[in-house]
Amino acid sequence: MAAQVHGFQTEVTKLLNLLANSLYSNKDVFLRELISNASDAIDKLHFVSLTKPELLGDDPTFKIKIKADKASRTLIISDNGIGLTEQEAKDHLGTIAKSGTQAFFESLEENSAKDSQLIGQFGVGFYSAFIVADRVTVLSRSAYAKEDEAVRWESTGTGTYETEIITKKTRGTDIILHLKDDQDKYFDDWTLGDIITKYSDHISTPVELYKEVQKEPKEGETSGTKEFEYVQINDAEALWTKKPSSLTEEEYYQFYKHTCSDYQDPLAYAHNKVDGDLEYTSLLYLPQRAPFDLFSRQDTKHGLKLFVQRVFIMDDADQFLPPYLRFIKGLIDTNDLPLNVSREILQDSAVTRKLKKALTKRALKMIQDLSQNTEKYNTFITQFGSVLKEGVADDYANQQLILKLLRFNTTYNEKADMSVSLDDYVSRMQEKQKHIYYLTANSYEAAVSSPYLENLKKKGIEVLLLSERIDEWIMNHLRDYDGKEFVSATSPDLKLGELEDEEDVKKKEEIQEQNRDLIERFKTALGDKVTDIRISTRLVESPSCVVTDGNMFTGQMQKLLEAAGQKLPEIKYILEINPEHALVKKAYAEIDESVFAKWASIILNQAILSEQGGLKDPSSFLKEVNELLLTK
Ligand code: ADP
Repeated sequence: MAAQVHGFQTEVTKLLNLLANSLYSNKDVFLRELISNASDAIDKLHFVSLTKPELLGDDPTFKIKIKADKASRTLIISDNGIGLTEQEAKDHLGTIAKSGTQAFFESLEENSAKDSQLIGQFGVGFYSAFIVADRVTVLSRSAYAKEDEAVRWESTGTGTYETEIITKKTRGTDIILHLKDDQDKYFDDWTLGDIITKYSDHISTPVELYKEVQKEPKEGETSGTKEFEYVQINDAEALWTKKPSSLTEEEYYQFYKHTCSDYQDPLAYAHNKVDGDLEYTSLLYLPQRAPFDLFSRQDTKHGLKLFVQRVFIMDDADQFLPPYLRFIKGLIDTNDLPLNVSREILQDSAVTRKLKKALTKRALKMIQDLSQNTEKYNTFITQFGSVLKEGVADDYANQQLILKLLRFNTTYNEKADMSVSLDDYVSRMQEKQKHIYYLTANSYEAAVSSPYLENLKKKGIEVLLLSERIDEWIMNHLRDYDGKEFVSATSPDLKLGELEDEEDVKKKEEIQEQNRDLIERFKTALGDKVTDIRISTRLVESPSCVVTDGNMFTGQMQKLLEAAGQKLPEIKYILEINPEHALVKKAYAEIDESVFAKWASIILNQAILSEQGGLKDPSSFLKEVNELLLTK
């Protein structure tokens, strides 16, 4: 059959242009990508052959072979893995997986050094062949196909590729790179050997390089001859099966970048081998940067690579860690699951549950260990703090540990740098202080200048300032940390407990007594617009604030529920007034009750405005303000 010409998907063409026109700081990555694909193809066949051993035929030993030939200017990467049919070649080597593509193009920064590092991160690995080659030929025979059902795929990386059915004696794939004129260095054994060792040492399949070897002299000869033969370059032992003490940090980092497709070093790693009740090896990593889809609602991919008895089973096994640890990457290899395990079986297996519990502990321990390093921990908190926080509500068993790992803004650190731990807070608590005080608000700025803080600040009591979207929801799931109850700074009758001395209590009673008339006038003016009116003890600089009684939603919670599409009854507040404030005094001095009612309405509405960040009827409010501004 004659060769057929096909057009690349538009994104591929764009990508190929980028590959051809950018100056790569590190061209060597192409070899890592192609060896990695070869290794994946072998893993896939290995897995299938567990149930269909006949697929291996007379070629049961898995290998990746690399051969450079200067005469024909080619570099060939061969594997005897699962191979590709013609249709698969068209599907996989003419398109890029949809979800990744968009993100890839969005993340390009027109900065070639950075852009080239992104290659591999979004599954564009194969196309990196065009960094060094001006023509790429793929000869492939699927493990399911006959000799004369193999495929030749070829492209110069400019808009189109062709495919043709051919005959290929051996199973698997040969990637033939026709190297560009200025890429002669990749004909050199030493260079190739170095790159393989650097990037692919931990691949569990042997990688063999065709190179010149000095032979032992035979009998009667003074010196041996030099011959070309395939020599194994990597040690072909899966990294995680080695003893942790025999591995260097650099090896762990390289392995991470390779297996988890990241171009940056991880922040931390944890390698554990466990024998006993459960038998498993886990290698967990904490990335430096959150993926673009960490908060996306669509089901995005996360989870660990699963190996059973060192056989690769699946990617993105998300059953081994809870959702609030979805940023953790790495792998688990266990002897406790069957080789034919499927996602469905994983879902409700008791072994999975036990492993999940154990891995959750390991992951939290890794995070806890990282907290010793302030700089790296800051990065972690900035990237993943708000995801980890979900665990407070999701994982009751580990709630206290998760709380210990979180970091907050408070009135103490005076900047929004998320650096205060609850242990820091507790260590600074005043002698008689029993509670941990917090305030939720729309933004850090709104929290810092909130009227609810005034009295607490005056007494020098530290307050957690919570302004992330999920904070209100989290606080609803929390009672205490280390036995100290969380108390909202907006709760009515903010109880300062023993922090309040006798004098305070007496003064409070006196103030309520003295202002009985003021309260009555407000009550008459505002009627059922409020549920109650009190004299505030928390306000110093503001004229008023509103609070809800314990049974009502707070303003923050209301907004959250409304955003989620829930209809809620209008909140009615308790209005707290500060009788010492000039505005309240001025209102009180007004003799005309209808004018006083306007003052009262403004004092209420500005408290609501400050709590909610908006008003249901802003124009009426402005009208009232203007009227009062115009009266002498
Ligand atoms: P990724 O490997 O991230 O999916 P690539 O662009 O590197 O992206 O490869 C695209 C697809 O082409 C692979 O998913 C695989 O299906 C197929 N492929 C690439 N190389 C090989 C190979 N050596 N053997 C079999 N299939 C391969």
